[in-house]
Amino acid sequence: MNGWLLWLESWFRQQRDITACLVASALPLPLFFIFILMPFLAMADQDHRHIYNWDVVPFTQIVIVMSSLVLGGVAVFSWSRRTSDADYPWLSLFTVTVMFLAVTALSVSYGYKDSPLMLLCLGMVLLVRALFKPDVYKPISVVMVLLFVCSEIGFWTNTLPYAPMLNAPIFVGEALDNWWSFWLRMIYAMIALPMLVFFFVLGYFMDREKLELERMVVTDVLTGIANRSHFMAQLDMESRRHSRKRQSMCVLMCDVDNFKRVNDTWGHPAGDEVLRAVGRILQQCTRSAGDQVARFGGEEFVVLLPETKLKQAEKVAEKIRRYLSHHIFGSGDASFQVTMSIGIVQVNDGDGELALKVADDNLYRAKDAGRDRVVATLLSRNTSFECV
Ligand code: GH3
Ligand code: MG
Ligand code: MG
Repeated sequence: MNGWLLWLESWFRQQRDITACLVASALPLPLFFIFILMPFLAMADQDHRHIYNWDVVPFTQIVIVMSSLVLGGVAVFSWSRRTSDADYPWLSLFTVTVMFLAVTALSVSYGYKDSPLMLLCLGMVLLVRALFKPDVYKPISVVMVLLFVCSEIGFWTNTLPYAPMLNAPIFVGEALDNWWSFWLRMIYAMIALPMLVFFFVLGYFMDREKLELERMVVTDVLTGIANRSHFMAQLDMESRRHSRKRQSMCVLMCDVDNFKRVNDTWGHPAGDEVLRAVGRILQQCTRSAGDQVARFGGEEFVVLLPETKLKQAEKVAEKIRRYLSHHIFGSGDASFQVTMSIGIVQVNDGDGELALKVADDNLYRAKDAGRDRVVATLLSRNTSFECV
């Protein structure tokens, strides 16, 4: 089921003229067929002949039969070219125009306020909106609205009867005629069921899109780990929690040594590979639940270790530093290794901002001390211990 929906989603996103025309022209055909059939059935039945106004029926029948033939032709044409990659903007415009005009003619002749025709208009607008680009359906939408406004003015000024194709009182009275009520239900079902499926599929697409957007907002594109803004939000949350519970947490600020040289010597793609590897190593060396790993910017990474003491944080930092320094990038003559400097701090009162600042100071002290090392500070209320 999921695979099928994924296929449908990619198919929808492509918005190819030919497949859009195929669906838009074939889908309304069974419904149009019922509308063509109904007057004939009524005519053959003595009890129901009075339902229709036979002066108007030929006009609507001709419009619907012609539209069905044209849409049938479009469906056959589109099916025969379904694998073609060519653009057919004129076909889209033609299909949508015929559909809109046919549905407008049906709606006005059968009356759209108390019949399934309003639902049909809505369904068609949704379908066309999903399948075609706005410049295809915008002009004809304006025409359709104008036609509805004109018919409404016609009803109010008594120049056009409501539902001219039907004889009153078909929609009023205590009980609907059984024959009429059967066909109404039939038409409702034929419009409502595809709409239900459509809304379900649309909801599925929207859920996936929402999840994807949410993921993109918090993720660094290159490394796939969290980005800076997400880290800052997590740090803020953890800071408040640690401040309430008076627990210690640690922050690691990590920076690849001489990274500019990596880029200059081995090229930017090699530099990017180093950054991706650092992202992976940081994830491997920390707990997946609780610890927060993020790319802070450029070749700088940050790690938040909640409910952690400095000794444990130093072990984690050493592990990261060791893993990276043993990692061999490239191959043969083009192989190289990189190192990393890390500044650590432990704070006991949940001051995240101060933790970041001190971790950053420590990182630069590690750089000054010769790189490829860890410098740590334990910040207690009145004291500060340092370990290099
Ligand atoms: P230090 O040991 O003092 O940290 O020196 P460094 O060369 O690592 O630091 P510097 O700040 O001089 O250089 C950082 C370089 O990182 C410069 C920049 O072009 C590169 N960089 C930043 N973001 C990216 C990226 O996304 N991909 C690649 N390949 N390089 C990046
Ligand atoms: Mg660097
Ligand atoms: Mg840097």
